Amino acid sequence: MPLYTTEALVLRTYKLGEADRIVVFLTKDRGKKRGVANGARRPRSRFAGALEPMTHVGVSYYEREQRDLVRLSYAEAQCSPLMAVQPDALTHVGYFAELIDEWAPEGDPNERLFRLGTATLEGIATGVPTAALARYFEYWLLRLQGVYPPHIGCHRCGTALDGGDPGAWLDQVAHVFTCRGCAGAAGEGPGGVRVSGAALDALGLFGRVPPQGLADWRLPPGVERELEAVHRTLLRVHLEKDLRSARVLRELGR
Ligand SMILES: [Zn+2]
Repeated sequence: MPLYTTEALVLRTYKLGEADRIVVFLTKDRGKKRGVANGARRPRSRFAGALEPMTHVGVSYYEREQRDLVRLSYAEAQCSPLMAVQPDALTHVGYFAELIDEWAPEGDPNERLFRLGTATLEGIATGVPTAALARYFEYWLLRLQGVYPPHIGCHRCGTALDGGDPGAWLDQVAHVFTCRGCAGAAGEGPGGVRVSGAALDALGLFGRVPPQGLADWRLPPGVERELEAVHRTLLRVHLEKDLRSARVLRELGR
């Protein structure tokens, strides 16, 4: 029974039997795993404080041949979302974890996704404003999957799409960014979702900086709403469903 020791990000847990938990976690080097944490629900368990979703842990686990479930030997928190500075960050933790879980196939190593998760956690722990962090996370998640449409130039004619008016349009069928002239069907007015020049500037910033680079930057509320709408569309198209945690966040925001 080989024993593996690595870093991981906890994505979710559920109850098993009387006192145990099943833990879904993304390892740094061996993809997503599902394992049993014996006694995790007992008081003074050796897993105490380490199994909250989005906790960055040092773990060690046994992998058994022909078994889907690994057995966790220990998990120790290195950084926890419970260190959150912004009061609204904790409401987003489940959303971040669910998106990573949806996008990480089991046993498929993806160190960049792991790095995005731990960088986002550091953002939570150091007080990066939550709305900016959430849009940043969505941007990079979609980019790492290779499905973020290029926002530098019009998909149809190549005209540069930079900050300032009139911005760009997200085509609602092809899900690409176009200039005003190429938006919508020929002969009709611009169709699709308009994205302002300020939102394009924000995307440019997201592409250049780590999450900590957003600590002192103010995401204008209008831009936040535009990017949230664009990202929601792209996530729905590429995940082919609406996330449970995203619905909860929308309800909380009302
Ligand atoms: Zn164009």
